Amino acid sequence: MSDISIRNVGRAGRITLNRPKALNALTYEMCLAIEAALDQWRDDEAVALVVIDAEGDRAFCSGGDIAELYERGRAGDFAYGQKFWADEYRLNYKIFSYPKPFVSFLQEFTMGGGVGIGCHGSHRIVGETSQIAMPECGIGLVPDVGGSLLLALAPGRLGEYLGITAVRMDADDAIFAGFADHFILQDQWPDIIKSLEETGVADAITAAEKSPPNGTLRDQQAQIDALFAGEALSDVLTDLRNDDSDFAADALKKLQRNAPLSMACTIEMLHRLRGPSLTMEKALDLEYRFTYRATEHGDFLEGIRAAIIDKDRTPQWQFAGTDVPTAAVGKMLQPLGKNALNLKDTGMKNLTIGFIGLGNMGAPMAANLAKAGHKLRGYDVAGTTAEGVEAVADIEAAAKGADVVITMLPNGSILRQVAAQAIAHMAQGALFIDCSTVDVESARNTSQAAENAGILAVDAPVSGGIGGASGGTLTFMAGGTEAAFAKAKPLFDIMGQKAVHCGDAGAGQAAKICNNMILGATMIATCEAFALADKLGLDRERMFDVVSTSSGYSWSMNAYCPAPGVGPKSPADNGYTPGFAAELMLKDLGLSQQAAEVVDADTPMGALALELYKRFVDEEDGKGRDFSAMLPRFEKRSRNG
Ligand code: NAD
Repeated sequence: MSDISIRNVGRAGRITLNRPKALNALTYEMCLAIEAALDQWRDDEAVALVVIDAEGDRAFCSGGDIAELYERGRAGDFAYGQKFWADEYRLNYKIFSYPKPFVSFLQEFTMGGGVGIGCHGSHRIVGETSQIAMPECGIGLVPDVGGSLLLALAPGRLGEYLGITAVRMDADDAIFAGFADHFILQDQWPDIIKSLEETGVADAITAAEKSPPNGTLRDQQAQIDALFAGEALSDVLTDLRNDDSDFAADALKKLQRNAPLSMACTIEMLHRLRGPSLTMEKALDLEYRFTYRATEHGDFLEGIRAAIIDKDRTPQWQFAGTDVPTAAVGKMLQPLGKNALNLKDTGMKNLTIGFIGLGNMGAPMAANLAKAGHKLRGYDVAGTTAEGVEAVADIEAAAKGADVVITMLPNGSILRQVAAQAIAHMAQGALFIDCSTVDVESARNTSQAAENAGILAVDAPVSGGIGGASGGTLTFMAGGTEAAFAKAKPLFDIMGQKAVHCGDAGAGQAAKICNNMILGATMIATCEAFALADKLGLDRERMFDVVSTSSGYSWSMNAYCPAPGVGPKSPADNGYTPGFAAELMLKDLGLSQQAAEVVDADTPMGALALELYKRFVDEEDGKGRDFSAMLPRFEKRSRNG
């Protein structure tokens, strides 16, 4: 079961977080999948609003999945976290500025990264069990994912209080502090969601809204304003120590758990942000200055170690509470120059794409991507290139620094070799798409190699032939994670007219093998029928007219007619120059029978088609000709050979 479910239901774009055992903690892949879905739904008129909810009754989302960040950070890889946070913040910004209603249902814990996806939309629903918090200071970070904006906008000094104590808000508190909008009893949520899906309008929300039970923040406001107004963390600590209320003692206890550098930076951030020019962009920019440096220079690794890895809950912070130097705060929050957060849509526009294998199919596919505005670097051992594509000297030159690498190669063993070289030079978070037709095993192996290197992978063989490749009307059958597919989809939309996500790694190849087993058999059937029709004295044009509109129709007849001069233009009109070479059909039929063998499936038509194409290629004149050249073969033959 996937970690996230993204689908269209009625008028709604639907997102359901689906890691209930991990309290729906947000992984990198989940972020990318949500972003890709939002990009797709933005201009889709069928989608009137977006609804996000989560499986399970323990959390909407307890935060970002930080295990990977920790491992990479410990190994000295700071770039991974920097890229993760930049991509996550871009998603938070997209939700904040989304042009359609974005409705979130926030049961139980909504914390950290959960706030980033749950508390920036237009309709934020809380219920009886909701608990919202920004606990980042406890692990050596600062309130981020746009949370600093909400904190800066909260009444009085609530932002400082919530940000550095990490106090949990119930529904009433969350509405008061500006983290939520509507309280609705949770047993009504399924009906409300159904109504949103059916109608595409958010009316049902206000109709079901109730007053939440009283929280605590409203009553504490005066104390909070008095005690959390200090210029720096040390002032706040002094004010709390000089106050003999239970509230002050309790707050001090909470602050003792958290990283002093993080708390000092949080206060400074809120002071800098508050004011008339406050924007989400500014908040995210400031947050990123801290998180960009957090793994290398902050207390982040120590915070995770103490809280999650060793669970000893005795972190050794860099500074004590009262003596965080102003210079240390300044250093964490100074501008990042060329590394500053870029919220521009770096999703899937103006990409650098390495395209390897510029043959009959690859060349026109690459040309279409270039035409759409992407920067294409192409490599083919045969030295071929394509329109708008910069020819490069080797695989490394195609793959290094590319956002996406696409391969269109003859077979699985070549794919494995090429993929190994390309992946070694690709950056983490980049995308590898293989569009060749290969065996399921090679597809899975390639996908695993990519995943091990932190690269998203999709096996996406195509159907539609060179006509589809040139015209941008291919069908893609894709295997891979939800996130990888979502990221690849805009490119499939350029090169094709349809892309089906068939399942996990290898599922695209499985679909392709089945499709081409049918294609091989129908092409043979079409060719033998034309040869029979000839001998029966039936005109080929008439034969085409009848069959193409009767029950014998197929792609082989209607779109790729093997008879020259009949039907739409096809390789038959070009002396059977491939098109789709007979050897490639033989390869695909071999793959289908190999797969059938492994899973013990009975495929007699596929087996016979394989035998005929084998004879055609190995013993007759099929090699180097289009797979539809079976027709001249049958013409020459009699019933006994
Ligand atoms: P092709 O032989 O025309 O193209 C393959 C290209 O890969 C060639 O130009 C070759 O020089 C290049 N190549 C081989 N090894 C390489 C390497 N190590 N590094 C770089 N380049 C290398 O074949 P095609 O018709 O373009 O088909 C490509 C793939 O698409 C195949 O897997 C095929 O089964 C599949 N396919 C083809 C069609 C079709 O109609 N042609 C339709 C659907 C799927």
